[in-house]
Amino acid sequence: MARDKVYSADIVIIGAGTAGSAAAVAAADQGMRVLLIEQSGAAGGSGAAGLVTPMMTTRMPGNPSCSYVGEEINRRMTALGAARAEGFQFDPAMLSFVLEAMLMERGVKLLLHTTLIDARLENRRVAALEVFNKSGRARVEGRVFLDATGDADLLRLAGLPLAHGDEDTGKNQPVSLRYVVSGVDEAAFRAFLNERGEAQTGEALYGAVTTAPGRVWPLSSVFEEAIAAGDLTPDDAVYWQFFGLPGRPDSIAFNCPEFFDLHDADDAENLTYVQLQGKQAILRQLLFYRKYLPGFQRAYVSAVASMVGVRESRRAVTDYVVTAEDLLARRKFDDAIAQSNYPVDVHGRKLNHPENAAAPDSAPWFEVPLRALIVRDADNLLVAGRNLGAEFIAQSAIRIIPTCRAMGEAAAIAAARACRGEDLHRVDGSAVRGEMIRRGARFAPR
Ligand SMILES: Cc1cc2nc3c(=O)[nH]c(=O)nc-3n(C[C@H](O)[C@H](O)[C@H](O)COP(=O)(O)OP(=O)(O)OC[C@H]3O[C@@H](n4cnc5c(N)ncnc54)[C@H](O)[C@@H]3O)c2cc1C
Repeated sequence: MARDKVYSADIVIIGAGTAGSAAAVAAADQGMRVLLIEQSGAAGGSGAAGLVTPMMTTRMPGNPSCSYVGEEINRRMTALGAARAEGFQFDPAMLSFVLEAMLMERGVKLLLHTTLIDARLENRRVAALEVFNKSGRARVEGRVFLDATGDADLLRLAGLPLAHGDEDTGKNQPVSLRYVVSGVDEAAFRAFLNERGEAQTGEALYGAVTTAPGRVWPLSSVFEEAIAAGDLTPDDAVYWQFFGLPGRPDSIAFNCPEFFDLHDADDAENLTYVQLQGKQAILRQLLFYRKYLPGFQRAYVSAVASMVGVRESRRAVTDYVVTAEDLLARRKFDDAIAQSNYPVDVHGRKLNHPENAAAPDSAPWFEVPLRALIVRDADNLLVAGRNLGAEFIAQSAIRIIPTCRAMGEAAAIAAARACRGEDLHRVDGSAVRGEMIRRGARFAPR
């Protein structure tokens, strides 16, 4: 381990993405000295560098966010004209502005362009980390650590057990490279969509062509024509989806192209392949829009995600691993720190969207227990975000943005309690939830 430079804090968070940023804000609110380490040049992760928008709703009555930090993000984004509908629709370009302001105001030490490269575990405790940046290698010390890398990088480097992909095949969910097209005449495109039967009733545009069972998509025939003419490939029509962006009336965000067949979403060569081939697909799709879609004649690509959209890669082994059955049966936990009724969302050449089973009681939602964030084989290490402790099917529903923020916030509050001397494995999850609520998080009554 390098010793030239040493950074230290009470709580060290790796990854300033969806969960990590919320965690850093919440940890600072607990009075902790917080160090937040991020490999890219901005906070926001998938929601900013990955261009993931919109934020899915929990599909529960009243859409409780389960996160006071999430509420503040949505308020601030809305005040800037960069979000509407409780943050459901938002502009990913503005997200990092808001997150970074919140982090700086709270005194979080944010270290950008810095990558975690090693982790040392001694007697079940993370003893130190090693990071790399332009200054060289540095050592990072802390009392409690949070892995919010999405890929459980810290756990992998520490040699801790991990799950990966579908339990039967080991294959991860498909990945995507998202992009934004600007210079669109929205009125002309909207009129075309309405004419084709893709009714645009909301403020923001939305449309799709997918292989989801039981639906005929109004734009499918346009795609078929372009495929027959050699202007698109058949894969372009397997999953194509777009969303309008608040505050950017000439811009549309695309949730594609998607890569269905790669086995590992944590393989550097696969990520490079997606970044390169994804751009060629984006160029093909841009030319298709200009030729086939009214309103796109002067359109251009204004952003390509600098980060590949990874839905699922490595997952932690935690004190409790949320099972598919827990999710589908909408199981409740005493130590719940997030609630949602977002459905199973496994992508592939055929989408897998089984509706969650009927609620066994009058509470139609599943819950995420705090124990799913506490790493089983370490005593000062938590996870939050899409790398939580959950089975493949369960993770596919838990991974949405609001739930990742709730997990980050809860992990931070639990970490602060551990810094104050509590055994991390015994932190009272209901007390953590109580603190989240005290600070403004909304939960459904339990
Ligand atoms: C294509 C796609 C579409 C999606 N669509 C939606 C949607 O419409 N609505 C919705 O709500 N959710 C959607 N999701 C899910 C959601 O965006 C993600 O699951 C969620 O944002 C993940 O949050 P996270 O904090 O776990 O990871 P991230 O937000 O990805 O953050 C991880 C951070 O860690 C950093 N990092 C990683 N490794 C290291 C390292 N070694 N050292 C330092 N830093 C590191 C990364 O740079 C990143 O900033 C989608 C996901 C994808 C991929």
